[in-house]
Amino acid sequence: MTTPLTDAERAAIHARYAAERDKRLRADGNEQYVEVTGDFARHVADPYTEVVEREPLTDEVTFAFVGGGFAGLCTAAALKKAGVGDVRVIEKGGDFGGTWYWNRYPGAQCDTAAMIYLPLLEETGHVPSEKYTHAPEILAHCQGIGRHFDLYDDAVFSTEVTDLSWDDEASRWVIRTDRGDEMRAKYVAIGTGPLHRPKLPGVPGIGTFGGHTFHTTRWDYEYTGGDPAGAPMTKLAGKRVGIIGTGATAVQCVPHLARDAGELYVFQRTPSSIDVRNNHEIDPAWFADLEPGWQKRWRENFTILQTGGFADEDLVKDGWTDISQRIRDRVLANLEDFSPETMLQAYHDSDDEKMEEIRARVDTLIEDRATAQALKPWYRQLCKRPCFHDEYLDAYNRPTAHLIDTDGQGVEAITERGVVVAGSEYELDCIIYASGFEVGTEQTRRSGFDVHGRDGVALFTEHWGEGMRTLHGLHSVGFPNFFVVSPSQAANLISNVPHNLVEAGETIAAIVAHAEDVGAEQVEVTEEAEQAWIDQLLAGMRMFGGAADCTPGYYNNEGRPDEGRVLDRLGYPEGPVAYFAYIADWRTSGAFDGLEFRGAESTVDA
Ligand code: NDP
Repeated sequence: MTTPLTDAERAAIHARYAAERDKRLRADGNEQYVEVTGDFARHVADPYTEVVEREPLTDEVTFAFVGGGFAGLCTAAALKKAGVGDVRVIEKGGDFGGTWYWNRYPGAQCDTAAMIYLPLLEETGHVPSEKYTHAPEILAHCQGIGRHFDLYDDAVFSTEVTDLSWDDEASRWVIRTDRGDEMRAKYVAIGTGPLHRPKLPGVPGIGTFGGHTFHTTRWDYEYTGGDPAGAPMTKLAGKRVGIIGTGATAVQCVPHLARDAGELYVFQRTPSSIDVRNNHEIDPAWFADLEPGWQKRWRENFTILQTGGFADEDLVKDGWTDISQRIRDRVLANLEDFSPETMLQAYHDSDDEKMEEIRARVDTLIEDRATAQALKPWYRQLCKRPCFHDEYLDAYNRPTAHLIDTDGQGVEAITERGVVVAGSEYELDCIIYASGFEVGTEQTRRSGFDVHGRDGVALFTEHWGEGMRTLHGLHSVGFPNFFVVSPSQAANLISNVPHNLVEAGETIAAIVAHAEDVGAEQVEVTEEAEQAWIDQLLAGMRMFGGAADCTPGYYNNEGRPDEGRVLDRLGYPEGPVAYFAYIADWRTSGAFDGLEFRGAESTVDA
């Protein structure tokens, strides 16, 4: 039991938070990063699958989904369960998996418990081997979903969509790709992932480095040796390796690099918060005894607890739910004083206590005092993606692992020989960019295509020109038979993204099944329903990610959450639990309020 913090201690902590944040605020925000085009396009090439020549496709399917990650898999599975026979997933990678296809860096594993993070466990019968499963198992699970739901036969891999256009006369979507395809589909959905386009630090000289470079999302095992399962990267022995970035990705791969590289230099701008991981194997006998329907119950239990709600038990019991339990204990201890203000105070007090523990943990694990000081995070836990790891901090105790802290300023320059920080040049053989992914840049830049609806109106650049406009995050006016799958303008639950995707898939499947039942050719949201949803979201202003007083990062639009495309970051005002309850009622009521189902000539009744 820790000693409660005094008011003076809390004030000092908050003053430090503000100072550390101010140090990192930059006028260029998102513009500070370099786009992976031109010479840097090699950072997005597919190193895992050879592209096989094939004839362009001009056929037609009932449903096409752009993106073969969890969004596509969850939707396709729900459609198959609802009786839609031909569902085509179109994916730029060489297989299903999405983020788990691309991210094969050593140490990659899910950060949210596999029991709730891996979708469709009950349907496929997959038993996670560990509480936080590693990437190869997650990729294999994605492939297992593909096989279980017979998605491989219709799937199209190594194919990038270049345009989606609505043919109103035929009531069909025309899908064009970089392989010369001109396929047709009655319905189309996109789920291209919020974090899939890598970005590079915009540092002077980045193009001049004479050694080897790659981004973590395309790990170069040819260069390093080893494999995604964590085999020793023998080719790094004797090499001087630099890694730029200390976010969730670096936290997972740094222990492997520290083990295998001749010398490792980790260039840090902002330390991540590193809570206890406590991973363990899952007992198949225990798993086999779970009652049918368990996964939905587990998902809901986690979401309730992670978003500050109350439940009789904590099924997942991890660092995400721990903070909520503390808030709950505080509130229960002072129930007679309960008010929104005391609730907020309980949140702040619990967070201060949690972050003090996280900083104290650094001291207990790190031998060098200066390194320990530099590894301490000074912000509220949910300002940045919280990290959980039991080997990351210890990695810095190796004599060959060097933390190069940039005091919030980032690396100064890259030269032909290496990386410069505060006037000192670190000579390197290889630079690994763990610098994250584009968030908040133009949608067409990230997706590589636009969607042209009725009268050729472009979704991303016109209808959403000032920000996303949808009903339920799924439907937009002028884009019949079209769905968007992402957490935005819906539950906006970031601690367990697949929960958003499972719900979206079930909702889409219910709409499509209904449209097919009533013989509709087109289903489209009404203008009134789209506007009412936007008004509701704006009245609540519940934003994705951290607040303005948080340290900058992609969670808070690089420190400016109230600027730019605010609409893109809004979620259901009453929060994820309320949204999931609302949308389940909506899709099962049979009324499909806000949507219009049209036959070949006329409107058909819902
Ligand atoms: P992040 O955007 O979280 O991290 C990028 C890192 O690069 C930050 O530490 C950033 O510093 C640093 N950086 C950027 N520019 C510079 C610079 N000029 N000099 C020095 N450092 C720089 O990307 P990640 O790939 O780590 O993670 C992205 C997201 O992917 C996570 O937040 C998470 O949502 C997801 N993820 C999930 C995992 C899981 O579930 N298992 C595992 C890994 C990732 P600063 O913080 O100061 O901006």
